[in-house]
Amino acid sequence: MISTQLTQVRQRIQYAAEQAKRKPDSVRLLAVSKTFSAEQVREAVEAGQLEFGENYVQEGLEKIEALRDLRESLTWHFIGPLQSNKARAVAEHFDWMHSVDREKIAERLHAHRPIGLPPLQVCIQVNIDGQSTKSGVAPDAVFALAQAIHALPRLRLRGLMCIPDPAQPPDELQARYLEMAALRDELAAQQRCELDILSMGMSADLEVAIASGSTLVRVGTAIFGNRYSSSP
Ligand SMILES: *Cc1c(COP(=O)(O)O)cnc(C)c1O
Repeated sequence: MISTQLTQVRQRIQYAAEQAKRKPDSVRLLAVSKTFSAEQVREAVEAGQLEFGENYVQEGLEKIEALRDLRESLTWHFIGPLQSNKARAVAEHFDWMHSVDREKIAERLHAHRPIGLPPLQVCIQVNIDGQSTKSGVAPDAVFALAQAIHALPRLRLRGLMCIPDPAQPPDELQARYLEMAALRDELAAQQRCELDILSMGMSADLEVAIASGSTLVRVGTAIFGNRYSSSP
């Protein structure tokens, strides 16, 4: 069942990319495995999926440990809100961190990233629709945070991430995603670096995100089925 759903998601990505006159391989698929078991992740791996996203530190660590035999082949992304006292665990065990939203977190991740590992790949989470309840920096605060990250050699800034309010109409959603793409372009020009990642789009809206330039979609339910816990 996971393999069938993965195939369907890959087809949706391919179709959306074609519609947008983009190459299908310009969009990475991150399978969001939060609340699902290590065995379900293993099933996805057998179907060819190698990148996984987790929202909760403890749960993620347990799964990474349970799948230690596959560690070399897998890429683990942390995509949830992070308290600074848990930054160490993320820096030590994950490959990517999508939700950097303040300097203190960036500094902690940098301080704890083991020397023997490549730099932690990071994205800045942007609060693109100004919802006060959501995490992420305001769009105009992205530049200062990017500057701070650039000064930390154990981190490598790859781009921007957002989780817009899914309740807005598709044209509003697309407007927010296009603002993200413009922000990324402006930041890349200002920092004179390539920022290849726009981490946006989930199960319900990956088409809109890809049409707006997303290069990495984070998909949970469309691959693994419904989550029966209270996670977002
Ligand atoms: C849960 C989650 C997803 C996946 O959402 P689905 O709707 O299940 O595809 C993506 N990104 C983040 C940050 C999440 O927390």
